[in-house]
Amino acid sequence: RMRPAAIPLHTCALPAFQQTLETLTVAHNCGFCRARHPRCVLFSPDLITMSKKTLAFQAEVAQLLHLVTHSLYSNKEIFLRELISNASDACDKLRFEAINDASLYGGDSELKLRLTLDKDAKTLTITDNGIGMSMQEAIDNLGTIAKSGTKDFVSKLTGDQKADSNLIGQFGVGFYSGFIVADKITVESRRAGLPANEAVRWVSDGGASGGDAFEVEPITREARGTSVILHLRDDAQDYTQTWKVKNIVNKYSDHISLPIQMEKEEWKDGELINPGDENGGRQPGAMVKTGEWETVNKASALWTRPKKEVTQEQYDEFYKAISHDY
Ligand code: ADP
Repeated sequence: RMRPAAIPLHTCALPAFQQTLETLTVAHNCGFCRARHPRCVLFSPDLITMSKKTLAFQAEVAQLLHLVTHSLYSNKEIFLRELISNASDACDKLRFEAINDASLYGGDSELKLRLTLDKDAKTLTITDNGIGMSMQEAIDNLGTIAKSGTKDFVSKLTGDQKADSNLIGQFGVGFYSGFIVADKITVESRRAGLPANEAVRWVSDGGASGGDAFEVEPITREARGTSVILHLRDDAQDYTQTWKVKNIVNKYSDHISLPIQMEKEEWKDGELINPGDENGGRQPGAMVKTGEWETVNKASALWTRPKKEVTQEQYDEFYKAISHDY
């Protein structure tokens, strides 16, 4: 879709807008537009008409990814804490923006997170119906490091793998920690307020193929919000197991005040081997999905719960989460 003639180029103090469209789409760094005008992507016909585009990670990100994917990282499971925390932040951001513009909810104001496990596809997916990202935001947010905490972290890296991987555990490296367990991450997102056909798919193998690059393409997505699809490494297939993931949620993310939902599973006995003869034995039983969703966290703020129901570990995790004190 081309830029509608009726929308004037908005006044942006940064010189980015005087640059060529190519530069603008890749290195557009205008905090004003990003925060207030997700639709400013309209000013870049290049992004709207393209099918797929490969872009390079910022050098610091490439450095971080290299570390995450190559370190023998001992506490793998923190990736879920980081991604759940991002999803929860995205819901908070939507709630905040919706104070001024309730239409952003588009009829769906029950904010929640969903974890979907797929053994056959070898994926773990974290979905939220929060603020979502436009294509430009996906490029900026997932291709560069804006947060000073993470920048500090990168500057502290020594090159010594053991010391460095220790640091990851302490800091948490946000989104990129997904690559601890995944050899490819696909993000599909639709920004609140944007139409379904202006959603984005972002894909990266974390630089494993040597390119230090990611791909973006426009997609159609019915639901607002974001799905982070982790294509799990061979040694991380455990994370398709419901009990395992539930445990991690309980350990690190129980303080999240939004519901975190998973598909409900029930034990189902195996078929009778010899129908008509109850004693003739059965095939092995298995846990099967019932098609319903269940909330696996307490989904209430920690401080509203009776003191005796809060474990020291939950208390500690909560403290870390609000104070960023690792
Ligand atoms: P941060 O510490 O800022 O969360 P991350 O690397 O984890 O750093 O994420 C980078 C940025 O990507 C976030 O600040 C946010 O803007 C965006 N982001 C990540 N996950 C999501 C999500 N689920 N929904 C919307 N935006 C997200």
